[in-house]
Amino acid sequence: MIRPGSGHPTDRATPTTPVARSTAEVVELAGSSASVVEIDARSSVCRACPRLVAWREEVAVVKRAAFADQQYWGRPITGWGDDAPRLLVSGLAPAAHGGNRTGRIFTGDRSGDWLFAALHRAGLANQPESVSAHDGLQLRHTRVVLPVRCAPPGNAPTPAERDVCAGWLAAELRLLLPTARCAVVLGGFGWTALRRALVRAGVEVGRLPAFGHGVEAVLPGGLTLLGCYHVSQQNTFTGRLTEPMLDAVLRRAKELAGLS
Ligand code: SF4
Repeated sequence: MIRPGSGHPTDRATPTTPVARSTAEVVELAGSSASVVEIDARSSVCRACPRLVAWREEVAVVKRAAFADQQYWGRPITGWGDDAPRLLVSGLAPAAHGGNRTGRIFTGDRSGDWLFAALHRAGLANQPESVSAHDGLQLRHTRVVLPVRCAPPGNAPTPAERDVCAGWLAAELRLLLPTARCAVVLGGFGWTALRRALVRAGVEVGRLPAFGHGVEAVLPGGLTLLGCYHVSQQNTFTGRLTEPMLDAVLRRAKELAGLS
């Protein structure tokens, strides 16, 4: 596991960053964070979900054979990209040997290959590759956020874990909503999770249409949610999500975000 303050490119924490160990402490520390930097720092050392803490740290020790020589991040993954974005991309949770290894969301796994290549084609990323936190990737006007920050066993967080972690996302959203105009939401779980976090952030979401690829929902305050099938291999290998489909969603997202 990489210790806070050790100089990792995505690490905004220090050895003295306060650690949340319960739901109440997530609410308290997230709610009192004055900036995106502070939320990133505090959430990156969170230990509020015992099952997920145990899993992410076990994976970081056992490792996958192909990455046996690498030091795994082994901590919660924060949102990443522009701190005052016009466009949000909301995923689900980090992958055990992707983000949980590299310390950056959608980095070092096949889902990230798809997502960042598409963001690059759309002019929202400076390069198509996302292999490590040291690779020089930068996003333009865009921030990737996630409803659950720790890699879950079987890629399946429980509803209770989702609801605890929503405290971080809600606080982050409160700080991002003044600039964000569109949120591309990857998958149905993310659609539900983002809705719940937006409600906690104070947005009067009301009834949303059911999740679907290309479905749009305009919220009070001007943020538009835009559904997109998740960039998981389950979808990209089977052709449920193709590159033209993803490119079309990002074109529409740029229009909605005023970035065309
Ligand atoms: S999933 Fe979220 S709330 Fe739970 S330990 Fe990880 S960062 Fe904390």
